[in-house]
Amino acid sequence: MRINELGIVITYKCNSQCRMCNIWKRSEGDELEAKYFSRLPEDLKIIGLTGGEPFLREDIVEVYRLIRKQCPAAKITLGSNGMATDLITRYMLDILKFDKNANVIISLDGIGKMHDRMRGVEGAFVRVMHTIESLKKIGLRGLGLNFTISEENLGEMKDVYDLSRKLNLKISFVLAHNSEIYYRTDNKPLENLTLLGAQLNYIIGKELGSFNIKRWLKAYYLGGIFDFAKYGRRRCKCSAGLFTLFVDANGDIYPCLKLNKRIGNLKDFDFEKIDKLQMRRWTGQCPDPCWLGCSVYPVLRKRPYLALGWLVKAKLKSVFGLRTLDG
Ligand code: SF4
Ligand code: SF4
Repeated sequence: MRINELGIVITYKCNSQCRMCNIWKRSEGDELEAKYFSRLPEDLKIIGLTGGEPFLREDIVEVYRLIRKQCPAAKITLGSNGMATDLITRYMLDILKFDKNANVIISLDGIGKMHDRMRGVEGAFVRVMHTIESLKKIGLRGLGLNFTISEENLGEMKDVYDLSRKLNLKISFVLAHNSEIYYRTDNKPLENLTLLGAQLNYIIGKELGSFNIKRWLKAYYLGGIFDFAKYGRRRCKCSAGLFTLFVDANGDIYPCLKLNKRIGNLKDFDFEKIDKLQMRRWTGQCPDPCWLGCSVYPVLRKRPYLALGWLVKAKLKSVFGLRTLDG
């Protein structure tokens, strides 16, 4: 089993003040020198570049170029808050000159004032809309949205989902989590599970109604959000440390973005010598499990059959007009 998916924080600089994340309060300005990204395994398949706000890293184009050169087959996605429209557009124009397959996922946590409130910045929603328009204009094909679910904004999931369909953009949803090594927050578990269930039932119904296996797997993942919020358990084991890893802004490497078990630094790490038994032990005893997409989709990509039983039942329920979730 080889590592083939990596999440990499390329900077902690951030121009947002999100309610569910404390990264913008971090004082350290660590940024791993760009040259070390040439040490990534060349057969990586999926790479997520994130922050902070990754477009605030001044040499982002150089970082991206090095990663693309080192990992020619990887799908590379930049996760952005979409605030700095001009900067993002300028850098993406440069990146698209040598990589037409680049992807950008922009955070959108509500409509209008709700998004502004969640992101702590007046006018954030309008800025995101401008960024989407601008990135479409320059021909970025791989553009999508991400909604972070918390108690305050969960009532707008359906509206943001509908907006994403209208804009013809893919959308993912993720529960706000805590992480002592990354976000450093104290998000509370969701309480209004009835509303969560109603919002998810709507979105799952739409995804199951498609003729697209990826969207069915997304429905399975979304159903898992409800299970996790209600029972605090995962539907399937995670792949942390087995074929996925997380790299901090200073190059420190962890099995995932939550588990505080540093296993080395990109400056001198040997990806061939990961102790997989140790990884299994650690993740098997994970003190604070998650249901983050980055811990679910890698498993589903390798073992899509894990979703089969749930999907058959959910499809049948949707055919008979029944709700998929009991929330
Ligand atoms: S969620 Fe992202 S944009 Fe918001 S403060 Fe954290 S790093 Fe910045
Ligand atoms: S379940 Fe635990 S070990 Fe696995 S990805 Fe989530 S936080 Fe990490």
